[in-house]
Amino acid sequence: MLPVVAVRGRRDGPYLLATGAVHGDEYEGPVAIQRLAATLDPDGFAGLFVGVPVVNTAAYAARSRTTPADGLDLNRVFPGASGGGPSHALAAVLFDTFVAACDALIDMHSGGVRLVHLPLIGWYSGDDGAAERIARGFGPAFHPWILGDVPGVLSREAARAGKLALGAEWGGGARLDPAGVDGYVAGMRHVLAALDPDTPTSGALDLRAPIAGGYQAAERSGLFVPVVALGEPVTEGRLLGVLYDPLGELQAEIRAQRSGLVAGLAHLALVQAGERVVYIG
Ligand SMILES: [Zn+2]
Repeated sequence: MLPVVAVRGRRDGPYLLATGAVHGDEYEGPVAIQRLAATLDPDGFAGLFVGVPVVNTAAYAARSRTTPADGLDLNRVFPGASGGGPSHALAAVLFDTFVAACDALIDMHSGGVRLVHLPLIGWYSGDDGAAERIARGFGPAFHPWILGDVPGVLSREAARAGKLALGAEWGGGARLDPAGVDGYVAGMRHVLAALDPDTPTSGALDLRAPIAGGYQAAERSGLFVPVVALGEPVTEGRLLGVLYDPLGELQAEIRAQRSGLVAGLAHLALVQAGERVVYIG
């Protein structure tokens, strides 16, 4: 069973789909979708708003990023396969039932248990400019972001299917940040206003250079002691943090593989080999 909320505007217009908890340990998106659906005035927007506040209900119940039944990251298996295992089947239901019918998608994430992110609002580089224009007006707390071209990601597969697609991040550490909920609600209201065929409004645009980068993983396990902060600019080669074993022996230094802003950091201090510890872009 998938929880779904929907509000239809009195005027015709596009269909906006909003999704949360594609990863089960991320909470701002679900609450923002619930709140927007409860407060949207049908007289105040055009088209259809549909929200799936908790996409991966089993992972949400288990407070887990991945689907408990198969251990897969749902956000790597879109558009899914109806005859596949639990994650593939769920992905196919969401994609075939909702994404295929929508005009625009916003998929809201957070850093989950393991990461904390800068607030980011992203689009794909192959977009015709419409998604970028909407993203740049999403809200002052969010940094513009060009999403990586990662197969199986919900927003990426929606963009490839011809939908206007946005992906967003806020905070993490499996906390629920009320400021993130406010930011997502205001951002979705902006998207609805920008999509309105009668009175499209874009408001102020954030013209900062977008973050565009990637994650770095720890090569060894250890206690991660960062020496940079979220949002700090770094240059390639800069020391980001060190990994220690239980006796305090240095296991590894982690250095920036590119220049950019630190847009994500490990939240769990004890990291395992291969685990993502920093996002720079
Ligand atoms: Zn996520």
